[in-house]
Amino acid sequence: MAFALQNSQLLVTKGLINGQWVDADDSTTVPVHNPANGELVAEVVNMGGAETKRAIEAAEAAFPAWSGKSSKERSDILEKWFDLVMANQDDLAAILTAEQGKPLFEAKGEIAYGASYIKWFAEEARRVYGDIIPAAQKDRRNLVIKQPVGVVAAITPWNFPNAMLARKIAPALAAGCTIVCKPAIETPISALAIAKLAEEAGVPAGVINIIPGADAPAIGGEMTSNPVVKKLTFTGSTPVGKLLMKQCADTVKRTSMELGGNAPIIIFDDADLDAAINGALISKFRNSGQTCICSNRVMVQAGIYDEFIERLAAEVSKFNVGNGLEEGTTHGPLITEKAVNNVAGLVDSAIADGARAVIGGARGDAAGFFFQPTILADAKPSMRVFKEEIFGPVAPVFKFETDEEAVAMANDTEFGLAAYMYTNNLKRIWHVSEALEYGMVGVNETAISSEVIPFGGVKESGQGREGSKYGLEDYMETKLICLGGL
Ligand code: NAP
Repeated sequence: MAFALQNSQLLVTKGLINGQWVDADDSTTVPVHNPANGELVAEVVNMGGAETKRAIEAAEAAFPAWSGKSSKERSDILEKWFDLVMANQDDLAAILTAEQGKPLFEAKGEIAYGASYIKWFAEEARRVYGDIIPAAQKDRRNLVIKQPVGVVAAITPWNFPNAMLARKIAPALAAGCTIVCKPAIETPISALAIAKLAEEAGVPAGVINIIPGADAPAIGGEMTSNPVVKKLTFTGSTPVGKLLMKQCADTVKRTSMELGGNAPIIIFDDADLDAAINGALISKFRNSGQTCICSNRVMVQAGIYDEFIERLAAEVSKFNVGNGLEEGTTHGPLITEKAVNNVAGLVDSAIADGARAVIGGARGDAAGFFFQPTILADAKPSMRVFKEEIFGPVAPVFKFETDEEAVAMANDTEFGLAAYMYTNNLKRIWHVSEALEYGMVGVNETAISSEVIPFGGVKESGQGREGSKYGLEDYMETKLICLGGL
């Protein structure tokens, strides 16, 4: 292991069921490697369907006491958890970088971002209000109360191994739910580490359960078929999300789906070009292009097309790609060889169809899973890079002439997560933001996400919202109590 922790207790490799840190039933483990150099980070338990079933039973048993606590009691525990996460930010970031690859400064940012949801929902836990609705009959009163949905199952991806889980566990616990989580197989240690701190914060046994395992269909199959589970919250790819929604239909579970994206960033010729370039750099290349809200299609108005590309390339040439654990690294590796192959396939096919690599265009030289930061000029809507989520450090730049053309191109996708635009024209800001078929629109800003905003998509990018005052709703039922004969 090429990193040292101040708190070595955080490097947990066992699963968590009913407050016990346990091995897999068959004692098997899965190796977790650093994608920058292939180094073994740890061997983590390889659990499956049987362990998931026991975790669900534990969550069911823990539910009455946890949901029976006052909102202040739950809030206090979440506050303590937030404090512990922030006190261990450096260690949690080192673990995250070791298993995921992103540079340490980005990993530290992710820990703080994930923690912000814990803090936010600790506060929101105390603001779950009901309603009194005037009745149609004189002798009645209609009361509406909110109650936790019950046992929740959560499945999360590898690109934000801490934050994607924190923003599911925190609202679930705030609402009074208990939860069983399956982290991605590439990055399970970050999930186990925050669960360790939750235990230290006083979260009772069975309230949070973590099931790492390589057999995702077995774990997901139990989560989606078990009638005890009342809700599935999933972040990941659209095809897996669709499959899980189908599986949930048999027991009519509620679902929240944070799925894939194909974000356009539209740069109009009246934009502040410095701000637009900065916004494009952040939103395209953060986490080496592996975020669901990454700009996937850079769309630039004809009058500034050449200048924009030249200036963007000058900035990209300053990147320092390497091992995220090393000082000075600005951009890390991709998660797996498969990811590198996928990005290489998209770039090769764009070049074969007439795109031009202004910078990059090939795999990295280092031993890990690297792809060179790449800008593709002369990109066309007929290319695969227009239609598919790239999930790598590749910016295809498309040219457009009019607002109508920009909107039509931006909406020409089955996805609808995030979109961005840069312009100083107020009329255009209104018309284009309203016309974009996306759950989130950033105007002259690409770093749009925080705990206070409703994060989520439309179309095949999913349903439900995480964070904000809306985020708790997804974990609560609305119940009518009708008082009659008054
Ligand atoms: P993925 O293949 O869908 O995996 C996500 C999670 O689903 C992992 O834990 C994976 O487990 C699990 N999984 C895979 N097949 C399963 C099955 N049959 N049953 C149950 N679970 C299953 O997605 P990914 O490629 O790792 O993640 C990237 C995707 O996530 C991108 O499309 C990205 O846009 C999306 N994403 C969306 C958001 C958002 O908020 N909208 C945020 C981040 C990422 P294993 O790891 O064990 O395979």
